[in-house]
Amino acid sequence: MRLEGKVALISGGARGMGAVEAKLFVQEGAKVVFGDVREEEGQRLEAEIAESGGEAVFTKLDVTSADDWQSAVDLAVSRFGKLDILVNNAGIFDNATVENTTVEAWDRVLGINAKGVFLGSKSAIGAMREAGGGSIVNISSTAGLTGSTVSSAYNASKGAVRLLTKATAVQFGSEKIRANSVHPGPIETDMVKQVFLDDESLRDERIAAIPQGRFGKPEEVANCVLFLASDEASYMTGSELVVDGGWTAQ
Ligand code: NAD
Repeated sequence: MRLEGKVALISGGARGMGAVEAKLFVQEGAKVVFGDVREEEGQRLEAEIAESGGEAVFTKLDVTSADDWQSAVDLAVSRFGKLDILVNNAGIFDNATVENTTVEAWDRVLGINAKGVFLGSKSAIGAMREAGGGSIVNISSTAGLTGSTVSSAYNASKGAVRLLTKATAVQFGSEKIRANSVHPGPIETDMVKQVFLDDESLRDERIAAIPQGRFGKPEEVANCVLFLASDEASYMTGSELVVDGGWTAQ
């Protein structure tokens, strides 16, 4: 098993890619704390994992709250003894040009997508140091690499995640704490369904622009996150793993 003996904390783990990662990490031998603002869905997933014999605990976590982050890290250490892995996965999307983005939407998107990753990393580093090292996997996006016609605040937030990851890698490399970013293209989750709900033609246009001719599956991102979280990626830090069916290769 690829995460045998590891303890992981995953944000935004109640549904979507975070939930798939929580299940995969448990299958690979990790003990997992996963947090989200969706308490009902989180508790349901905790019960599902327990039924399959895995060890995972859900906690209410709003990634914009430093106190919630501290409680989540403390829970990992008190329940499972340490913290080796942090996946900063929680995120929201906003669909508007720079001109049409409201100040409230800007603050909300940057608050969850960028400040949330900062607070998660800030809270976890002490526990990782205690554990003798660790791996931080930050979920950015292809929108953290290239601009888009509509996702202004989202672009800005995911670009911030990309460089915060590199700063973390540079600052804590000597302490065996690695940090890498993952850049998915469109992946079939509720977030993407919501974006294309009212616009089938936009969906077809996006798919036509992807060399593999389809959106990705959450499992295809989770496998990459698993690799970066594991010791198999021991000499990788500050890197960007693109998972987009070839979209940004063009
Ligand atoms: P999703 O909406 O299915 O899941 C996101 C989860 O984050 C939800 O469970 C939600 O409740 C949680 N969340 C939102 N705000 C939160 C907060 N303040 N505190 C804690 N949790 C919060 O979306 P997903 O597609 O699984 O997205 C996961 C990550 O992947 C996000 O960071 C997203 O930006 C990124 N991403 C998604 C895609 C895609 O196409 N789906 C592409 C690139 C990057």
